[in-house]
Amino acid sequence: MSCVFCDIVAGEAPAIRVYEDDDFLAFLDIRPFSRGHTLVVPKRHSVDLTDTPPDTVAGLARIGQRIAQAARRSGLHADGNNVVINDGKAAFQTVFHIHLHVLPRRSGDKLSFAKNMVLRRDPGREESGRLLREALSELDTTP
Ligand code: 5GP
Ligand code: ZN
Repeated sequence: MSCVFCDIVAGEAPAIRVYEDDDFLAFLDIRPFSRGHTLVVPKRHSVDLTDTPPDTVAGLARIGQRIAQAARRSGLHADGNNVVINDGKAAFQTVFHIHLHVLPRRSGDKLSFAKNMVLRRDPGREESGRLLREALSELDTTP
């Protein structure tokens, strides 16, 4: 069965990648709710919280935390983040390869965030990806 996130993991579909290791990949959401909106996925396909091993869920959380920390320190200047897994169709899951959303937030962004929930675009997405990658590599070298 075809899966768009498996295609991204395999490099067969394009994505702006922000983090990768042996087991996980993080890339920008194609229709972002905020600048730097990132999805973290396990490379091994699973659907939702019913079939994903606990260690994999823990790995998603660990990387999501790192990306949230990076978003605060990055040129995106996030003041906080929404970190969420939509578990199943009833919870508005639309891509059935489990993923964790990291949505960088700015203090007082309520109106622009609401507007972007309709528009869902970031004209500077290449730059958003670069800023997150830079901040992640700085985190890696900071004790
Ligand atoms: P869900 O509602 O399943 O938690 O979120 C799925 C997310 O995947 C949505 O925010 C949607 O914009 C994003 N998405 C869907 N297809 C693609 C794609 O081909 N590439 C990327 N980068 N994101 C996608
Ligand atoms: Zn998949």
